[in-house]
Formats: sequence, C-alpha cells, structure tokens
Amino acid sequence: MGREGKLGNPREALSISGCEARILAGLPLVGTVRMNELLRIMTDIILSARRERSVLRQHPWVLSGAVAQEPGASESGAWVRVLSSAGGVLGHGHYSARSSIRVRLLAFGKEDPGEALLERRIEAALARRRDHPLLTETTGLRLVNAESDGLPGLVVDRMGDVLVVKFLTAGMHARAERIARCLEELTDAPHGYRRRDDTSARREGISPDEGVLWGNPSGLAAIEERGRRYAVDFMQGQKTGFYLDQRDARDLVQGLSRGRRTLDVFSYTGGFAVAAGRGGARALVLVDSSQAALETASSNLALNQVECPIEVRHSDAFEALRTAAEAGEKYDLIVLDPPPLARSRRAVQAASRAYKDMLLHALRCASPSAFILAFSCSHHIDPDLFQKIVFGAALDAHRGVRWLRTLGAPADHPFSIYHPEGRYLNGCLLEVESAGQAPG
Ligand code: SAH
Repeated sequence: MGREGKLGNPREALSISGCEARILAGLPLVGTVRMNELLRIMTDIILSARRERSVLRQHPWVLSGAVAQEPGASESGAWVRVLSSAGGVLGHGHYSARSSIRVRLLAFGKEDPGEALLERRIEAALARRRDHPLLTETTGLRLVNAESDGLPGLVVDRMGDVLVVKFLTAGMHARAERIARCLEELTDAPHGYRRRDDTSARREGISPDEGVLWGNPSGLAAIEERGRRYAVDFMQGQKTGFYLDQRDARDLVQGLSRGRRTLDVFSYTGGFAVAAGRGGARALVLVDSSQAALETASSNLALNQVECPIEVRHSDAFEALRTAAEAGEKYDLIVLDPPPLARSRRAVQAASRAYKDMLLHALRCASPSAFILAFSCSHHIDPDLFQKIVFGAALDAHRGVRWLRTLGAPADHPFSIYHPEGRYLNGCLLEVESAGQAPG
C-alpha cells in the first residue's frame, strides 16, 4: 500500500516527472516493473459532502463535480483511494485526470484490493460465462463487459480464434500488457488483438493504440453462432468487428422469418439477414451506408447458403425507408437496428424525432400482420422514452401495433444493477395490424 496521506493535502502526496507521466499514460509498455510501481502509488480523492450518495450506493463512477480535493493532473491510470468528506475510505479505483469520470471504482470499502484484483476479476468473468445455459453454441462471445464484470474500461470479445480487446480508460490502458498476458494465459485463444477507440482515447487523454497482443492474428476471424456462420473483420470492422449483443434477437428473427419478405435496415455485415435467410425468408433486402459492411454481408449470406432472392442497397437508411414507403414496397418482417442516435443527453430530442420518423416509414412498409424488430442502442433513450417513440410513430401511421416482446442484450452483455448506464440496448418485437384498421 502506498502513502497514507490521511486528510492532508493530496496534491503533496505525489510528485512525478514528465517521463514517468508518459509511462503512466500507458505510452511505452517497456519497463513494466517501474510502471507498476508508479501505478501503485496511492493518493486520495476526497468527495464533497453533497455528492457522496452515489458512491455509497455502489455506483462505480466518481464524476469530477463530486470531487472536493484531488491529486495533481499527471497520474492518470493510477490507483486512488476515494474518501468521504468525513475521511472514511469508501473504495479504491483508477484515476482519470482528463475525463469527467474522474475515478472508476473497482472495489468498495476500506481494504486496498491490490493489483491482482484485475486477474481475479477477469477469471471470474470467464468463469461466469463458462457452461452458461444462455450462452451455448457460439464461438462469438463477450468475455468481459466492463462495469458489469467489475472491470470498468475493459471490453473483451471472443471472435472464434481471436480475442479482441478494448482498453477504454486510462486505468486499463496503463495495464494493457498485464491484462493481455492474463487473457492469453486464462483462455485458449491463439490470437489477441487490440482495437483502438478514438472517442475514449480523446476523453481519457490516452494514445489510441491498435495491434497484435499475442499470436499472429490476420485477415478475418470466423464465428459460428447457433449454426449461423459469420466472417468477422476484427481489424477494420465496426466496434470489435461484430455485434455480439444481438445474438438473442438473431435467434428470434430466425424463428420468425419463414416465408417472409424481410427488410434488414442498418444491416452491417448481415447478422440479421443471415438469420432470416436461414429461417426461410422468402426474399431479403439489406440497407446500409457502408459498402465494406455490405460486401461482407453478401459473402456471409453465401457462406450460409442463403438462396432466396437478395437485394443489397448501399444507401442512407432514412432515405431508403422513405423511398420504399413512397414506392409502396411491402415487407412482412422488418429489422431496424440503427447506430446510437443520441450520443449525449443533449441529442435526445433530435434523436427521438429521427427515430420516430424512421419507424413511421417502416410501419408504412409493413404488410398486414408484419413483424417489426426495432432497437435503440443509446442509454440516453431509456425504455420509457423508447416506448413513447414507438407510440408516436404508430399513431401517425394509423396502424394497430402490439408490443409482443421487450428485447435487450444477451447474458454475456449484462448490466450491473448498480450501474444503470450500462443498460444501452432497448428493443421490441412489434406485430402490426392491417393498414386502415382501428388501433385496438
Ligand atoms: N444490425 C447490425 C448492426 C448495426 S450497426 C448487426 O446486427 O450486425 C449500425 C449500422 O448502421 C452500421 O453498419 C453502419 O454502417 C450503419 N449506418 C450508420 N448510419 C447509417 C445511415 N444513415 N444509413 C444507413 N446505414 C447507416
């Protein structure tokens, strides 16, 4: 354990050189021993009395506005102790000098959890998923899901033979080497690859590193999920290369698609289209603005021997839906899975309007007794608001709409009940009545 510091001025507890600060920022991964020492220097963050409640309620974030006193700005990534205004130790976490989330707590209570907490948490995350009854028959799986696995800032996706890792905070970035060794040891994955994340790199003031962690990953990875096969571009593709969080919804689509003319909007690499094709869809139309994603989608459909007529539309999805509605196109199964439309609270209103507009056009394209699966993946649009948006679109479309099922992320993407921000994926399965019928 580092310095005690008591309630003295935490700024005096630590002074490090610019070179050490570079190491702390996680830049070179040489000199790991020295870096580990630096990361273990413990300083205190003191909360303001009025803003202690969320930490007392086990929320893992300390926002900058809740901090009354903090150390100097140079030790991003290091452990800090979080103290109440009265001086009691509330927990330990990783410090981020630049981020508005100043500390991510990894442990609550007085006890210093020690650096080996990382390995214990990773091991526990892997164990929770092993032989899990909801996570069977897939070689594509999220192994570590940040806060919900007690590892804020760390995301690990298994894509067949390749583990794709994202280090999203200064704390995890500074420990990348150690985490990679642990993952290599604890899993049998022959390859590890680190994906950059520019948004979090900017927010955290860390370098957006990308590259091989171990093994020799190259080309595309391959996953098989409940009989569906996908090529995954883990180097160039979006996020970690594939949307593992829609696995359960893909199962649902596969079960609903027989004989249905299916429209997959925001198709990306054809996750849903492949499921619909394997389920016996009569025809498939895919829409996405990314040509590269659509090319992979086409080869994924071929890989799965989907033989119904397929049309791929490289287009803005909002435009494409409007055009399809105006042209009188009709579909029996429609999937709407846009990127996060509200990336901040301020964007919620505009996003709600865009979302409603999109759903309205989808409803106009819905044949009698069509199914629509609609998703929103930004946590700023909460389940209540999401339902209201669906209501507004149904009302404007003059269609009877029944909400058959609420959909969300699968068991490898849980959210911790203490961290509601981790709930980002809201979805529904709707059944649409014939046009002109009174809602009821
Ligand atoms: N349904 C996909 C994931 C969708 S991710 C799956 O299950 O795999 C969102 C997709 O929307 C991305 O492929 C992105 O290229 C696409 N996209 C983003 N903005 C778009 C727009 N305005 N029009 C069409 N596609 C868009």
